[in-house]
Amino acid sequence: MIETYDDLFVKQCMRCHTPTPTDREEGDVYCQKCASPLANRCTNISDDNFSNYEGCGVALKPEAVYCPKCATISLFAREQLIENKYPKVELVSNFEDDEPVF
Ligand SMILES: [Zn+2]
Ligand SMILES: [Zn+2]
Repeated sequence: MIETYDDLFVKQCMRCHTPTPTDREEGDVYCQKCASPLANRCTNISDDNFSNYEGCGVALKPEAVYCPKCATISLFAREQLIENKYPKVELVSNFEDDEPVF
């Protein structure tokens, strides 16, 4: 169980355990010490201004590995802040489109 505030921000950083400032400004969503995200969300977000597609991007509980609405991996899982016990098997047909895996 990961403790959060009412707005689903974690009470301390998932990586470096720095307490999340309660007086943080709106839009402050990353840890000031290690740049980890402080709130989990669906990573299905469209940043493409030329597309009409609207990503899901809903706020998720910190334990959520996948979005229950669209099955996209959560931000915390992508950043490896929480364990992903059941990684999706990707149907990889074109390696060039994939981000490098470290
Ligand atoms: Zn941190
Ligand atoms: Zn989603």
